[in-house]
Amino acid sequence: MKKTYLAALDQGTTSSRAVIFTLAGEIVASAGREFRQIYPKPGWVEHDPGDILDTQVYALREAVKRAGILPEQIAAIGITNQRETTLLWDRKTGECVHNAIVWQCRRTADMAEALKEQGLGPMIREKTGLLPDAYFSGTKIKWLLDEMNLRERAKNGEICFGTVDSFLCWHLVEGHPHMTDATNAGRTMLFNLHTQDWDDDLLSMLEIPRAILPRVIDTAQVVGNLRADILGAPVPVAALAGDQHAALFGQACFERGMVKHTYGTGCFMLMNAGGEFRLSQSGLITTLAWRLKGKPTYAFEGSVFVGGAAVQWLRDELKLIGSAAESEEVALSVPDAGGVYLVPAFTGMGAPYWDMYARGTLVGMTRGTGRAHIVRAALESIAYQSRDLLAAMKADGDIECAALRVDGGASANRYLMQFQSDLTDMPVQRPKVLETTALGAALLAGLAVGAYTDLADTAKTWQPGDTFTPQMPAGEREEKLKGWKRAVRCARYWAADREEEI
Ligand code: ADP
Repeated sequence: MKKTYLAALDQGTTSSRAVIFTLAGEIVASAGREFRQIYPKPGWVEHDPGDILDTQVYALREAVKRAGILPEQIAAIGITNQRETTLLWDRKTGECVHNAIVWQCRRTADMAEALKEQGLGPMIREKTGLLPDAYFSGTKIKWLLDEMNLRERAKNGEICFGTVDSFLCWHLVEGHPHMTDATNAGRTMLFNLHTQDWDDDLLSMLEIPRAILPRVIDTAQVVGNLRADILGAPVPVAALAGDQHAALFGQACFERGMVKHTYGTGCFMLMNAGGEFRLSQSGLITTLAWRLKGKPTYAFEGSVFVGGAAVQWLRDELKLIGSAAESEEVALSVPDAGGVYLVPAFTGMGAPYWDMYARGTLVGMTRGTGRAHIVRAALESIAYQSRDLLAAMKADGDIECAALRVDGGASANRYLMQFQSDLTDMPVQRPKVLETTALGAALLAGLAVGAYTDLADTAKTWQPGDTFTPQMPAGEREEKLKGWKRAVRCARYWAADREEEI
């Protein structure tokens, strides 16, 4: 039987999906199922591990069914996953000791603060590329070991830790392999990017026994065969990658300086930073793009906290629009934002400002300001914040960047994409296949089993959809950016008792 398809399991924060691709990177079929979000306390977020498994297996079976293919025709499966979410399970029975602690969960915020207060920030940053934060798995593991009183059992090798990729492998692959890939390992705050191994200083900092950790493999590497009872055929699972890393791969950002930007509720930007580790001066994270044949490629990562969420806010709170898609038509009903700027710093501002005290601000209104101006300003705010991130990345890496490759829900907004291109003075490229995360996982798996010869071969699957080219005169761009910087200063000045110059 000819193996002419690839499958991706995309285990996300709110749903598990599966996508079947041809080797040319075209989507044949997909399926998905949402699952329950568990909020035991304000700021705490958990998932039921059983839900993760069940929805993922359902999605895969359903996608194969919809594709109308035989499992024997699938050359390989790639797994991509919500990052940092933490599970511990019993090595003998596979039973999880607790619900999964989701990346968003803030239960260990104090622990992360304490690490900063002890002055451990620079050491963590130099080894892992990360800033100490409760997002990353390390403090979540410590919390579980402490709260569940598991340290002795952990030392004795009775407990396994895994991020979602490891957890899925352990349960879905023959022989219960306990493995993770380097991109996922890199999000634990325990993995040393220089040695490409778990780090003893970081492990002892959080009192985590090495015995619980999975073996770290390349991003494109065969883990083993899918359990035969799942699809009825032993298809190889051949890639593991964190979701943002898979998207960077799916966008074929293989050269240093290539950038992908995902416009979702929040927006995630990753830039290929090449083979050398380098720290950012603007508070961006240095992370692995992927590791292939033992060789790491690095990336800078930054996020816009409120991206598409600003559009949801217009719809749900201000009721200025009926749907997210309507924002485009309303914005285009006026020639410009009329001097209005929205800084949606609802939860503070991230890179390059890092100001947790900043708050949402709407400035520049006159008696003539109407709904359309505010809607337009909200869309523009997504582009301004994204442009700031990009400028920081370019400066930090001393990297030239030729184009922005985009995906995610809000990338459907043509006005936003055009304005983004105008602001960055760069082409914005939206690929034909917007499922870049799933595509990346599938391509990595294909690479591991020899369906592609090299990166250039996988890059052939990237097909341009729409390209937006800069139209705005330089003077107008400069004026707009100046206005945005002033608006950001207003948002930051708002915080009480802060008289200092910003
Ligand atoms: P996530 O994966 O974070 O749930 P998605 O990639 O599904 O996000 O994108 C959803 C976000 O995109 C929402 O915040 C929504 O407001 C925004 N969005 C969707 N379509 C549009 C559009 N046409 N214009 C502007 N924003 C949009």
